[in-house]
Order: sequence, then structure tokens, then C-alpha cells
Amino acid sequence: MVEETIFSKIIRKEIPADIVYEDESVLAFRDISPQAPVHLLIIPKKLIPTVNDVDAEDEMTLGHMFVVAAQLAKEHDVDKNGYRLTVNCNSEGGQEVFHLHMHLMGGRRMQRMG
Ligand code: AMP
Repeated sequence: MVEETIFSKIIRKEIPADIVYEDESVLAFRDISPQAPVHLLIIPKKLIPTVNDVDAEDEMTLGHMFVVAAQLAKEHDVDKNGYRLTVNCNSEGGQEVFHLHMHLMGGRRMQRMG
């Protein structure tokens, strides 16, 4: 069974979030606990818990998330210096919210991946 997370409430505007982008399939908002000067979360409106749950019908939405990420990176002025896009999966991947999301982090030099 697929359980909703706090991100479903954000999509339905039942709890506040600092929304920076929205269209019919994707929402983006500022991370509540930013790990970089720019730290945005880009999520599909469809509840896909983890990358393991992705299927072929999600290809358009997931590809669109990259288009939105590139647009947001420009708008937040991190495109030239660079930024990191991260999708965590399950416990060893560091996933805490089980609604697939892409972190966009920029505005500082990122550490090596570890
Ligand atoms: P992850 O560890 O990849 O699952 O990332 C979940 C992210 O969601 C964390 O960076 C949290 O700070 C962020 N987060 C959790 N609750 C909220 C919220 N209500 N609004 C914005 N960001 C949130």
C-alpha cells in the first residue's frame, strides 16, 4: 500500500511551503532544513514513493523534473557556478520522506560524494 507523506499535504496546500514552481505534474519548494544557500525540492505530484517504484508511464514526469531543475537553477542563479541534483532511495540512500523528490542544492562548493 502506498502511504501519503507530508509532501502530499504540501501539494494540496494543506500545510504551508515556500513554493517556487508549480505546474500540472511537478511542484518545487524550498527545503525546510536547507543544506546549502539554495536548497530546493522538486517533486512529482503523483505519489511515487521511491525510485524503485518508477515505471515507464512516469518517464515524461521524471524527465520534466530535469527541465524544471535547469529552469530553477537559472532563476536562482546557480547555473553558472554549478549545483547538485540528488535523489535518495531508501534507508542506505538517506531517504527520509517516501515521496520521490529531487534535491537541487547550490550556492556553495559541494563535498565529494560519500
Ligand atoms: P530525503 O532525506 O532525501 O528524504 O529528504 C527529505 C527532505 O525533505 C529533507 O531535506 C527535509 O529537510 C525536507 N523536508 C521535510 N519536511 C519538509 C517540509 N514540510 N517542507 C520542506 N521540506 C521538508
